Amino acid sequence: MHKIIRKERFTNDISLMEVEAPFVARKIKPGQFIVLRLHENGERIPLTMFECNPETGTVAFVFMKVGKSTYELDTLGEGDSILDIIGPMGKPAKIDTYGTVVCVGGGVGTPEVLPVADALRKAGNEVIIIAGYRTKNLVILEDDLRACCDELKICTDDGSYCTKGFTTTLLQELIDSKQSIDLVHTVGPVIMMKLVCDITRPHGIKTLVSLNPIMLDATGMCGSCRVNVGGQMQLACVDGPEFDGHEVDFDDLMNRLNMFKKEEQEALERYKKAHPEAFPGEKGEGKI
Ligand code: NAD
Repeated sequence: MHKIIRKERFTNDISLMEVEAPFVARKIKPGQFIVLRLHENGERIPLTMFECNPETGTVAFVFMKVGKSTYELDTLGEGDSILDIIGPMGKPAKIDTYGTVVCVGGGVGTPEVLPVADALRKAGNEVIIIAGYRTKNLVILEDDLRACCDELKICTDDGSYCTKGFTTTLLQELIDSKQSIDLVHTVGPVIMMKLVCDITRPHGIKTLVSLNPIMLDATGMCGSCRVNVGGQMQLACVDGPEFDGHEVDFDDLMNRLNMFKKEEQEALERYKKAHPEAFPGEKGEGKI
């Protein structure tokens, strides 16, 4: 069992959890993820590492309530326990000295950018972070992001905070301003990562994307997280999750991500009927 020692709610749907997992905390690196299971009948939930502390033996992750299992996870609080946590899973982010690196994070993808940006900066890079959120209330971890980079640029889709626009707007502006960029690292909605790659490709800027396709066992056995990279079938769980974005077939990835939407919605509705207490203040259909 893995005790939850900290829970911080950022928004109604997005929270941070820090859990005891000493063996994982000793080894996990930026870009890697853990898989947790809440109970015997629980689904396996892959979550990217946000922070780890080998001294206290704890690992932290940030999650958003999107489906049955993440709603269930959110019913737990400090002092509660999670049945299983396995990790580190996947390959670490490629940390090297590139020069100037731009890390582009979208929404709940921004927490994963943080440890990678921090490691890249410690490796001697100049790091610029572009973080995009739908609206002001969803801006998370601003101070933490600022602390691990040389420059933080924030945007909101509706202009309610900082620059109005998407992360891609700020990236395009940066490139147009003749800023020399040696590497882009991006995590967030798949459509955003695809568009980031479309912007960097003509300029020959190496672009690494961290993918989170549907994943079941996360050990390379089931094949559900396969992605087409440069015409080759790759498994995000063991070959990734980081890939050369210019080689990724994003349209295929988006199709695969929608494969179980109906079943995911039905599972959430069933859970909602059985556990109305997990949806305080919500009336009508569960959102996903
Ligand atoms: P969101 O829909 O609120 O979008 C966040 C930001 O991404 C937007 O504010 C915008 O700046 C940018 N964006 C979105 N759509 C865009 C478009 N069409 N063009 C240009 N920019 C666009 O995101 P969310 O609801 O917080 O979801 C975050 C996503 O990140 C989820 O899809 C989640 O699966 C993914 N994620 C990935 C990882 C990982 O490890 N790979 C980790 C956490 C989250």
